Amino acid sequence: MATSTQIHNADFSEQFHIIAGPCSIESKEQFWDLAEQLHKIGVKLLRGGIFKLRTKPDTFQGHGSIAYSWAKEVKEHFNMGFVSEVTDPRQISDMADVVDCFQVGARNMYNYPLLSELGKVKKPVLLKRAFAATIDEWLFAADYILKESNEQIFLCERGIRSFETRTRNTLDLNAIAYVKKFGGPFPVIADPSHGTGRSDLVTEMSLACVAAGADGLLIEVHESPAEALSDKEQAINVNAFKDLHDKSHKLAKFMRDLNSY
Ligand code: PEP
Ligand code: MN
Repeated sequence: MATSTQIHNADFSEQFHIIAGPCSIESKEQFWDLAEQLHKIGVKLLRGGIFKLRTKPDTFQGHGSIAYSWAKEVKEHFNMGFVSEVTDPRQISDMADVVDCFQVGARNMYNYPLLSELGKVKKPVLLKRAFAATIDEWLFAADYILKESNEQIFLCERGIRSFETRTRNTLDLNAIAYVKKFGGPFPVIADPSHGTGRSDLVTEMSLACVAAGADGLLIEVHESPAEALSDKEQAINVNAFKDLHDKSHKLAKFMRDLNSY
């Protein structure tokens, strides 16, 4: 990671990373300003949605391909890796010029043609677990990517549906520990932003994920969460993110020392 924005599985085995950024890229200025602040904090991997698969069709769906050049300019300026969601196989060739890692969202975990196409690219794929997928279904989805010879897969637990309504989803800590132990050689990334849906729980659950074995976190950050165009309830501000970042890195180091005894 130090000298290039390429992302590899090995980055996560060497060092704990947080992928941070807004749910959606809202403008070039917004993305630039936030990236600048995250870069100062020490973040090396940026996230930001360009195509948003929203549950409600009348909500903001992302800027689409006009945001490619914004994202490229920002990530190159700050020398950060960039992760963004691909929602359709037809986006892959143009998007490959912008992203360092393709995200497959929860709604597309079962989109096998998309997974097979991503199996042919030479970039990592962050594969989110679907809302109601069993761990086996999630790992079989990873096999669709592997089958085409792409071994760069990051498994991302982002919460599953349960009867609980106080939180948006139920972050499955069991799944983090399980896939870390039995899910193959893949880095395990936890997403407590979507897993809780609540900014006031994101830090606590980030630490729980690190203790459960997560190799990295995916966190939604916004300079002014109340004004975010998507997922405003779960975005944390930059100050809260700095606190989360420092605590998570300390805990990750502690866990690595503990596990190496
Ligand atoms: C996201 O990362 O903004 C997102 C839409 O996530 P998920 O697919 O987990 O809902
Ligand atoms: Mn989101």
